Amino acid sequence: MSFEKLRILPSVQDILERQPMPRNLVALKAERDRQIAAALTGKDNRFVLIIGPCSAHDEDAVCDYIGRLAEVGRKVRERLILIPRVYTNKPRTTGLGYKGMAHQPDPRKEPNIVAGLRAIRGMHIRALRESGLTAADEMLYPENYPYLEDLLSYVTIGARSVENQAHRLTVSGLDIPVGAKNPTSGDLSVMFNAIAAAQAGHIFLYNGWEVKTRGNPLVHAVLRGAVNYHGQNIPNYHYEDLVFAAQRYSVSGLQFPAIIVDTNHSNSDKKFREQPRIALEVMDSRARSPLLRKMVRGLMIESFIKEGSQKPSEHARGKSITDPCLGWKDTERLIYDLAERA
Ligand code: PEP
Ligand code: MN
Repeated sequence: MSFEKLRILPSVQDILERQPMPRNLVALKAERDRQIAAALTGKDNRFVLIIGPCSAHDEDAVCDYIGRLAEVGRKVRERLILIPRVYTNKPRTTGLGYKGMAHQPDPRKEPNIVAGLRAIRGMHIRALRESGLTAADEMLYPENYPYLEDLLSYVTIGARSVENQAHRLTVSGLDIPVGAKNPTSGDLSVMFNAIAAAQAGHIFLYNGWEVKTRGNPLVHAVLRGAVNYHGQNIPNYHYEDLVFAAQRYSVSGLQFPAIIVDTNHSNSDKKFREQPRIALEVMDSRARSPLLRKMVRGLMIESFIKEGSQKPSEHARGKSITDPCLGWKDTERLIYDLAERA
């Protein structure tokens, strides 16, 4: 093996003891989890927005952004539940580039994963303390989940991970909602198979233990568009796509069928300014179909303070260093527009 051992990982206990979840937020987190689960299962009529930057690379800017989200969120609380994206693990198409704060606490410095795990926990705690909004993050490395387990209210399995058994089995043991994305190929069977696997209980190896899970009924679908044989983007947010997915879902026997539509990625072809149009089209489709109204429970939107994206070596504050995002003004307008239609 060519592995060079760089640093030994601190235990989960060590990290949690040094950076504990503030006691006064434990009840708030439990209540948020209850409300988000109710919205996704249809017990609560509110519409869910999982919204925020593609990657959370700068703690100050992320907390500033989430503070703004919390303020808008209070005004639309009757209609929408906002879950900030605090994404600290980035899957990379070619393996190259910024892999998220979990790898690089400072995007302009060398990777340091031990420091990264402390940094992501610190950022999640601060964002929650300042805003009162528990966040979403992506599960890229299933073994890292315990470092954030007490903080997150929503987890996604990304398009590149959704066929992986380790991800499917790990989320079968979570008690919060998990969005399983369609794979980059667009094959919905892969996504539905992931949901079926994760809704079942399993016995498997996890972080040095043989563990047993009960299955997670809150695992559901996220449609993010696809890429075809020729490398072209194929959206899957149009009316016919949603009806097709919803009908398959209805007869699948899966628990609590729920669809979240991701408005960026291969749905927008990363043309981030298309996101409001896509989001409003989804709301229009919901208004035309009782099935979609019931099943499409929310949207995932990539948004930050400044619109677009920059290279990781650049310094514009509040601007994405991964996928391009909608800017704050357009985001705020979109949230109010969605609240009117939800
Ligand atoms: C993301 O949400 O930023 C992301 C990487 O999504 P996907 O897995 O759909 O490409
Ligand atoms: Mn992204």
